[in-house]
Amino acid sequence: MLGIRRLLLTCRPGFRLQHTAIAVKNEPILEFKQGSSERQALKEALNEQKGQTLEVPCVIGGESVWTNEIQYQLCPFNHSHKVAKFCYADKDLINKAINAALSAHREWDLKPVEDRAQIFFKAADLISGSRRAELLARTMIGQEAGQSVNLIPTDSILFYFFQGFVAAVSPFNFTAIGGNLAGAPALMGNVVVWKPSDTAMAASYTVYKILLEAGLPPNVIQFVPSDGPLFGETITESEHLAGINFTGSVPTFKHLWKLVSKKLDKYRTFPRLSGECGGKNFHFVHKSADIGSVVNGTIRSAFEYGGQKCSACSRMYVPDSLWPEIKKNLLEEQKKIKVGNPVDDFETFFSAVIDNKSFARIKKWIEHAQSSPNLTIISGGKYDDNIGYFVEPSIIETKDPQDPIMKEEIFGPIVTVYVYPETKYQEILHLIDTSTPYGLTGSVFAQDENVIAEASKILRYSAGNFYINDKSTGSVVAQQPFGGARISGTNDKAGGPHYILRWTSPQSVKETHVPLTKWRYPYMD
Ligand code: NAD
Repeated sequence: MLGIRRLLLTCRPGFRLQHTAIAVKNEPILEFKQGSSERQALKEALNEQKGQTLEVPCVIGGESVWTNEIQYQLCPFNHSHKVAKFCYADKDLINKAINAALSAHREWDLKPVEDRAQIFFKAADLISGSRRAELLARTMIGQEAGQSVNLIPTDSILFYFFQGFVAAVSPFNFTAIGGNLAGAPALMGNVVVWKPSDTAMAASYTVYKILLEAGLPPNVIQFVPSDGPLFGETITESEHLAGINFTGSVPTFKHLWKLVSKKLDKYRTFPRLSGECGGKNFHFVHKSADIGSVVNGTIRSAFEYGGQKCSACSRMYVPDSLWPEIKKNLLEEQKKIKVGNPVDDFETFFSAVIDNKSFARIKKWIEHAQSSPNLTIISGGKYDDNIGYFVEPSIIETKDPQDPIMKEEIFGPIVTVYVYPETKYQEILHLIDTSTPYGLTGSVFAQDENVIAEASKILRYSAGNFYINDKSTGSVVAQQPFGGARISGTNDKAGGPHYILRWTSPQSVKETHVPLTKWRYPYMD
């Protein structure tokens, strides 16, 4: 949870900005220990929401609207529980949302930035205070893990809003991301049409309601659950499309980019496209590494949230000299991981994967490992979707570092290890750099400073978020702004100052106070 306490910007009417003071402070991370008040509050919220189905309408122009196309968000670890009932907006309704957003445009942008920011501060206060337990419970029941929520990524400087609207398209796996994708452009004066993920509906709606409660005018962000492809087609038809703020998979982002380029002649302005996508994140281990950090970091990074973090470690490279000990420790720790229902048992490390599609995809990777002569499942490998979509934390060893399992995103609790001859570590660094088209996160575990320097150079473009002797997940807003390069995204670094500026259209202004008395230059006399 991020709490930016005070961000002060003064804006002289018209255009000029003076950046007077910025203080960024992260919320303390609560530990939910036995007997703590946060644990008690969370338990009460979980109890209250047990078996509940939240009704989530589309919210267009401040009005709740229901269509006939009813959908349900299911609880991943007990798919008989309908967490949210919602409906898909049709094409007309999506267009209505665009028009409603555009009607709020000028008034919202003319509001001084400090007034707009106050709304987001208030929402952040609600989320870190009275509404925290409710939102965490919605996330835990609907998407599994309790995730931090960050509405305002960092300090900001306002220039101008875009002429048009920004479409925010969010993924299932972090409640925080939805709030950020819609909230950051809105903070900077834009109007937003937000399409939340079907499988994060209850938590996304709760964030939206909190924003309204904090004082967000009703038309600034339209809440538009809808079928993904229909939403993509409809927003890219509008001449007013000024930006897309996307987080999700590479194919979806590429599809949206292609739609925009195909329809480029329609638009009044070049739409600004920001996309954070998938990864094939690595842990590289050198012979000088600290084994405890490698083992504990890998267990956390690969398996926390069932490997459904875009930054989760999915491929690992270990020198043959260290492998016997690392393997022994990894297998011992893997056995201690409890997979189950995170609501009734707080000892659960992770729960089910998000839905049946995800389950089927991960199952295919396990079948691939079972049938390939190059691959050996050394622990885990079982799955069961009777009650929820459960997959065991699985560790696979590969003889081939170019096997597809070392190149493609899995997005589940699977990590594959390639054991290399320890003297060949430089070759391995080049292999890591070249064997996938992604560039999201990666870690180097080494105590040898020369190796760290060498690895940092070779892996410069392999990871937008690069870790040294730390796991590849868990970036903290304002400390490690997050984003990947190559096909992992446009690397706009949510959680950092560059990101917020992406949602403005700066204007340079020159005002002269001395009258111009002649047009000729002195050299001409
Ligand atoms: P997804 O691409 O399936 O869906 C993302 C969003 O796009 C959803 O709201 C979906 O409904 C919508 N969508 C789907 N098709 C669309 C279309 N044609 N037009 C418009 N919208 C469309 O991704 P997901 O499964 O929700 O999320 C998992 C993916 O997100 C993984 O690849 C993960 O790595 C990535 N991710 C990346 C980051 C990051 O910061 N780099 C963070 C979280 C998740």
